Amino acid sequence: MDLAKKDLKYIWHPCSQMKDYEALPPIIIDRGKGIYLYDVDGKEYIDIVSSWWCNLLGHCNEKINDSIKKQLDKLEHVIFANFSHGPAISLCEELSDIIPKGLTKFNFSDNGSASVECALKMAFQYMHQTGKPRKKRFMCLSEGYHGETIGALSVGSMDLYASIYKPMLMDTIHIEAPDCYRCSYGKCRNTCGAECFEHAEKAFEQYAEETCAIIIEPLLQGSAGMRIYPPIYLKKLDTLCKQYDVLLIVDEIATGFGRTGKMFACDYAQITPDIMCLSKGLTGGYLPMAITITTNKIYDAFYADYNEGKAFMHSHTYSGNPLGCSAALAVQKVLKEDNVLEKAAIRGKYLHQKLWENLMDHPNVGEIRNIGLINAIELVTDKKKIGFDPRLRIGYQIYKSALQEGLLLRPLGNVLYFNPPLIINEDEIDKAVERCMAAIRKIL
Ligand SMILES: *Cc1c(COP(=O)(O)O)cnc(C)c1O
Repeated sequence: MDLAKKDLKYIWHPCSQMKDYEALPPIIIDRGKGIYLYDVDGKEYIDIVSSWWCNLLGHCNEKINDSIKKQLDKLEHVIFANFSHGPAISLCEELSDIIPKGLTKFNFSDNGSASVECALKMAFQYMHQTGKPRKKRFMCLSEGYHGETIGALSVGSMDLYASIYKPMLMDTIHIEAPDCYRCSYGKCRNTCGAECFEHAEKAFEQYAEETCAIIIEPLLQGSAGMRIYPPIYLKKLDTLCKQYDVLLIVDEIATGFGRTGKMFACDYAQITPDIMCLSKGLTGGYLPMAITITTNKIYDAFYADYNEGKAFMHSHTYSGNPLGCSAALAVQKVLKEDNVLEKAAIRGKYLHQKLWENLMDHPNVGEIRNIGLINAIELVTDKKKIGFDPRLRIGYQIYKSALQEGLLLRPLGNVLYFNPPLIINEDEIDKAVERCMAAIRKIL
């Protein structure tokens, strides 16, 4: 039996209608190098989505490989309660230099959703232990995405992932998010004053007294279709949170480590959130690891004699895994020594220019928006910003056609996007854009 058939015999793939695999069997990948993946027949694919946004510095990166190999021969894992190890400590030291000032305490877990759950519990317990037990609820933005466990789903508002589970979810407050492409104030994201922030102001007036925290994806609502909004929104939110004593949780799982052009999206607004969630690029996309980072203010509310019962009783078996830490340490080293962000800034402009030249005149292209190396192409039926009927599955058609061209492009509904490893070079960008154009030509 060939591998694809065997795969379907056993495996229930993530986020998939398995019936689709009858027509398009899984692609069995044999190896990767840089931005490329190769299947078992030797066919090449450009990984333009960084394998779900996590591969930061290319596949099979020698420096990351070496770091993990060295660690592997010393210690693969150890319980992280009462025990610790060099790689975790060094990693926190390294990250301390690049995260927003004031974030000082690191709580390890093993995936993005888990780091969000940790942040929510931390915020809730903080209010409970500082004499504000009425502050129990969470706020979030519409179209937000924070993972797919029950708590994370509760603060997400993408119906695609959440609607069926609503009876299981927490009762959270959803604030209408910025929608810059279809701005109802007739403004433009580069010059506006975040007029849409009034939705947040109203929600805070009404609900802040019962709210412990708000969670957001800073500047980029990834899963919603790479929706980009301006830093001024973040600044205003930071101020509002302080005014109403609501904690600000910033989910930088997708935006962290240079994806938006700066090390963190928060840096555009020069804010320090109360809690920050990191994962994805943290290990370069090598090993599942996440960190929830917070301030002394929050940490101190948990610090007491044991019998006061104030400890944060939260744990994961693989918290602080040394192999993950060794990968993350190598990532930090490469980011620094190879000036990755500076180079990516130049390539980001190049990629945007390329896409603009090739696609902006296309009748079905509504907007090409970008931040850092991330570029998103919003497909519309005409220039009046009307999207395609989701049942046509235009994105999926283009996905299949791109695969034939050797490009792993995985649209979000009607939005095609590029979110490549930061090490992509100009020739590779040219190749990827050509393949994307060919795929689009076949479908539209
Ligand atoms: C991917 C993602 C998550 C969830 O991370 P998992 O590791 O898939 O659980 C949460 N928030 C954002 C913004 C993400 O992009």
